[in-house]
Amino acid sequence: MKEINKVLIANRGEIAVRIIRSLKEMGIESVAVFSDADRQALHVREADEAFHIGAAPSVQSYLHQDKIIEVALQAKVDAIHPGYGFLSENAVFARKVEEKGIVFIGPSPETIETMGSKLAAKEAALKYKIPMVPGGNKAITDPEQAKEIAKGIGYPVLIKASAGGGGKGMRIVHEASEFTEQFNRAVSEALSAFGDGSVFLEKYISSPAHVEIQILGDSFGNIVYLFDRECSIQRRYQKVIEEAPSPKLNPEIRKKMGEAAVLVGKACNYRGAGTVEFILDENLNFYFLEMNTRLQVEHPVTELITGIDLVKEQIKIARGEKLSFTQENISFKGHAIELRIYAEDPATNFLPDTGRLTSYKIPKGPGIRIDDGFEEGMEIPVYYDPLISKLIVYGTDRKEAIARMKRAIDEYVVTGIATTLPFGKFVLNHEAFISGRFNTHFVQHFFTPDTLAIEANEATEKAIALLVGKLFSKNNEVKINTEKNRNSKWMERLK
Ligand code: ADP
Ligand code: ADP
Ligand code: MG
Repeated sequence: MKEINKVLIANRGEIAVRIIRSLKEMGIESVAVFSDADRQALHVREADEAFHIGAAPSVQSYLHQDKIIEVALQAKVDAIHPGYGFLSENAVFARKVEEKGIVFIGPSPETIETMGSKLAAKEAALKYKIPMVPGGNKAITDPEQAKEIAKGIGYPVLIKASAGGGGKGMRIVHEASEFTEQFNRAVSEALSAFGDGSVFLEKYISSPAHVEIQILGDSFGNIVYLFDRECSIQRRYQKVIEEAPSPKLNPEIRKKMGEAAVLVGKACNYRGAGTVEFILDENLNFYFLEMNTRLQVEHPVTELITGIDLVKEQIKIARGEKLSFTQENISFKGHAIELRIYAEDPATNFLPDTGRLTSYKIPKGPGIRIDDGFEEGMEIPVYYDPLISKLIVYGTDRKEAIARMKRAIDEYVVTGIATTLPFGKFVLNHEAFISGRFNTHFVQHFFTPDTLAIEANEATEKAIALLVGKLFSKNNEVKINTEKNRNSKWMERLK
C-alpha cells in the first residue's frame, strides 16, 4: 500500500476543480498548477496550494512535463492526477513521474503506450476476438497500396490517424477518385498534429451510434464494467451530449458489451479507470473503436447512475487497494444526461467564441450537478478547450431526466459568450432524441442554425430579466465586492 496524502493536479478548468473536490472529501491535500491565463481560475483558488508553471500556451505550461514534475517535487506530493486531455495519455510523462518516485494516477506507461495507438490497441483487442470495424488494421504509407485496401473494404472508407484523439485526424473518402489526395492530406495532418504520420483505413459505418463502456481495474487483475454511456450527439466527431444508460441497449447486449470491454482491459493489463469505445450499427452489432486510458469528460453520468465516485476509485486503486466491489455488486438506477456547455456558437457551425462571462447563473434544485471552472466576470481563455461547464442531470427514468435537463437549461444564464446551451435545448426537444432513435449524424441531419431562433430569443429575455434584477438588488453589489476581496487576497498569496 502506498500513502497518498498530497496530490498535484496537472490540469485546469472544470476537471481540475472536480478532482480537488474528491481529494477534499478523502482528506487529501491538493496542489494546483496554472499558466499566465489562469491566475484567477477557480481551480487555483480551490486547491490548498497553487504554483505558476508558465506562459498561457499549453506547451509552455500544462504540457510542460519537466516543469510540472519540478513543482511536484518541490511541493512534495505523493501523486499526480493528469485529468483528461493534456498529459493524461502521455506514456513518456507517466514514466518520468514514476521514475521520480511519484505515483501517476492512471494505468502503467506500457498500457498507455499500447492503447494510445489505435493500431496497437486493435492488435491487443484482436487476441480476445473483440469485434472490429472492417478495415486494414495496419499502418499504411503507400497511397497505391492504401487505395487497393480501400477498394477491398468498399467505399465510403475512413482514413484515421493511429495517434488521433479528440475527434481530430479523420477523413471520409466517398469514392476512389478522391482517395489519393485525401490520403496524402491525412498523413501530413497526422504528422503535424500528433507527431506520428501512421494512418489506417476503416469501413465508414453509415449510421452508427457511439456507445462506450466505463471500466475499473485494480493492481490485482480484477476488472469490472460500470455500464454504458450513449455519446452519439456529436459535432466534429466530438461529443456534446452524453447519457447513461444508453437508451439503445437491451440487457443482453449491455452484458455482452460490458464483458467485451473487460476483455479489452485484460488485453492491456488495465489498471485504473478507463473507457472502451464502440460503435453500434442499426442491428445492434458493436465494433471496438479505441480505448481511452483516463478519466473521461462524461464520467459524471456513470457516477450518477452507479453511485460510484470514479475519482475516489482512481485514487484508491493508485494506493494499491483492491476494488471494493465485484461485478455482481454493481448495479445502476435511474437515468443521467450531460450537456457540455462549450464557448461555441451553434449558429456558426460551432465556431469557438471567446470573451467574458458578463453574467453567469447556474441552475439549482433536485437532480442537478454542475461541474464548472468559471465564475461570473471571468474570461474564457483562447488557449485551451472551450469547455465552460458540464450540466449533468439525474432522473428516476429517461423521461424525467429529459424534463429536468430542459428545466435546467432554462434556468442557466450565460451572457457575453455564445454557448451550446440553446443547442442542448434543441436536441432535448427533438423527437429523434426523445425516442432514442438517433445516431452520430444527428447534427448533420436535423440541425440548422435557424432552428435556434426561438431559443435565442428566450435566452435574451432571460438575460434581460437577470440584468434588471441585478440593478435593483443591493445584496448583489455586496456579493460582488466580497468576491473581489477574495480574489485580491488570492492574488497576493500567488505573488
Ligand atoms: P472524451 O472521450 O473524454 O469525451 P474528448 O474526445 O472530448 O474526450 O477529448 C477530451 C479532451 O482531450 C479534449 O480536450 C481533447 O481535445 C483532448 N484530447 C483527447 N485525445 C487527444 C489527442 N490524442 N490529442 C490531443 N488532444 C486530445
Ligand atoms: P477519437 O480518438 O478522435 O475519439 P474515435 O475512433 O473514438 O476517435 O472516433 C470518434 C468518432 O468518430 C466516433 O464517436 C464516431 O462518431 C466517428 N467514427 C469513428 N470511426 C468510425 C467509423 N468507422 N465509421 C463511422 N464513424 C466513425
Ligand atoms: Mg474516441
